[in-house]
Amino acid sequence: MKVIKVNTHQREEFIDITQEVESAVRESKIKEGVCFVFSPHTTAGITINENADPSVKKDILNHLKKLVPFSGDYSHSEGNADAHIKASLLGNSVTVLVEGGNLVLGTWQGIYFCEFDGPRRRKLYVYFLPTFR
Ligand code: ZN
Repeated sequence: MKVIKVNTHQREEFIDITQEVESAVRESKIKEGVCFVFSPHTTAGITINENADPSVKKDILNHLKKLVPFSGDYSHSEGNADAHIKASLLGNSVTVLVEGGNLVLGTWQGIYFCEFDGPRRRKLYVYFLPTFR
């Protein structure tokens, strides 16, 4: 298992971690298999989406803000209830196939770490399951 460290700089931000995950694939020397990326955090998520036009991640963040406002009728007393909800909406893991030693992603896809309660020091776990023929 490989650990990727991510330092976030804003309360809410999407950080493209595709290169870091690809580096982990190369280090693992796995040619074919499955790559799991897991976030052990309750106020951050992981998603795969477009990495060509930056307005896409801006739209997702803005829409999530409208959907789950910072202030609301929340019970959680830490003041970050919105971040917990957004993290659950996006989920805390992604699965990507590995073929020929590379991640199998669509042309416009990137893997994003989604911070909802930053800035913080975060970490992600990357785990590989090789397939055998
Ligand atoms: Zn909390």
